[in-house]
Amino acid sequence: MNVTVFGTGYVGLVQGAILADVGHHVVCVDVDADKVERLKQGIIPIYEPGLEQLVKENHAAGRLDFTTDAEAGVTHGQVQFIAVGTPPDEDGSADLQYVLKVAETIATYMQGEQIVIDKSTVPVGTADKVRAKLAEVLEARGRADLSFDVVSNPEFLKEGSAVADCQKPDRIIIGTENAETVEVMRELYAPFNRNHDKIIVMDVRSAELTKYAANCMLATKISFMNEIANLAERLGADIEAVRQGIGSDPRIGYHFIYPGVGYGGSCFPKDVQALIRTADDIDFDAKVLKAVESRNMEQKTTLFQKIHKHFGGDLAGKTFAVWGLAFKPNTDDMREAPSRVLMEALWQAGAKVQAYDPEAMEETQRLYGSRDDLSLCGTKEAALKGADALAIVTDWQTFKAPDFDAIKEQLRAPTVFDGRNLYEPKRMQRKGFTYYGVGRQ
Ligand code: NAD
Repeated sequence: MNVTVFGTGYVGLVQGAILADVGHHVVCVDVDADKVERLKQGIIPIYEPGLEQLVKENHAAGRLDFTTDAEAGVTHGQVQFIAVGTPPDEDGSADLQYVLKVAETIATYMQGEQIVIDKSTVPVGTADKVRAKLAEVLEARGRADLSFDVVSNPEFLKEGSAVADCQKPDRIIIGTENAETVEVMRELYAPFNRNHDKIIVMDVRSAELTKYAANCMLATKISFMNEIANLAERLGADIEAVRQGIGSDPRIGYHFIYPGVGYGGSCFPKDVQALIRTADDIDFDAKVLKAVESRNMEQKTTLFQKIHKHFGGDLAGKTFAVWGLAFKPNTDDMREAPSRVLMEALWQAGAKVQAYDPEAMEETQRLYGSRDDLSLCGTKEAALKGADALAIVTDWQTFKAPDFDAIKEQLRAPTVFDGRNLYEPKRMQRKGFTYYGVGRQ
């Protein structure tokens, strides 16, 4: 099938690449000329396991191309994916300007019937707005005769395993009431739907809400566990024991119930906020979601609070090693990352940071490169040298079994603030560390 994808970010690029890999002919359109040029040369702007090879191979095979030429893009595809950003507006609601711009572009250039597939995360009712935009532009062109359908097909990939998630999706949500469109979508996704039927067809509004409900449920699990961890800390209990104790109930399960330093990234914070705004718009008080958000904002400050207390409130002139800058492992994405909240608080208190992350060093350089109270270190060991303590923010594999003797040797004092519960408190104590976990004694 000939497929056009608007947007070459985490979602659009991965989607384009996996569709090309099974034999579809994909053209990805982006307004960022620099990005498009680099993609043509096989330079991938983001770190995502397996993506570089997939893009290079399929580009070389002539099944995946990149362009800024929207007209050529629209002309190419039998279906048009919208996979552009929906960042939070000032009031937290999803900013739809990029989505609606793409709708306008598609309507400006389409010559025959089209299926417009919305992959961006958008509030309930957006498909109606996209439909209205398409109709308005076609009308203005005098081409109201051209028919189209707008499908909601939200994306559930996880950054860090985006390629694998798209190649083996848990479910493919298709929001449309048009039977012909369902057939086209089934054909498009058939290579990913062989083991058992993963396609769930529903009305457009339910599909739009499914995406928000999924992310909000996951965010709720995190905030809930963080709340229980904070309680455990104060009640003399151990959250690790509690986690295993509750996870053993299949209704709860072991997945996604790790306490930590709060969720970040480009999706959970903005999607929780956007659903709260959607509820506000219809005068519905989304009490659970508001609590999830407020617990998370507080949780992001807990590592700093522990550091502050340990040093008696005096952090001026101190140096901290920070391990992990990306908002989670296997990505270089630092949007809304808890590491940023910690580092900014440390700087505010007059401390210095020696930071290391396996993939997010370039991004850190881009965000904070001009600061003289930040040293970007080439290895995790280098970050420790002469620091007053180590703070662990992201649970990268490489941090899970470090050389503790070397840590002790490099740090000025053997103090570890572990925001991910990577180590056993008792073992750390035996090794001579002052150790702080989350929800642990
Ligand atoms: P992104 O910011 O990484 O990429 C968006 C891309 O769209 C950019 O390259 C931008 O230049 C391009 N763009 C903007 N306007 C355009 C236009 N008019 N024409 C063509 N290209 C245009 O965004 P992302 O992380 O890929 O997210 C895209 C959407 O998918 C968002 O709604 C997001 O919430 C959703 N989503 C993201 C993830 C994730 O993990 N990142 C997962 C599921 C869903």
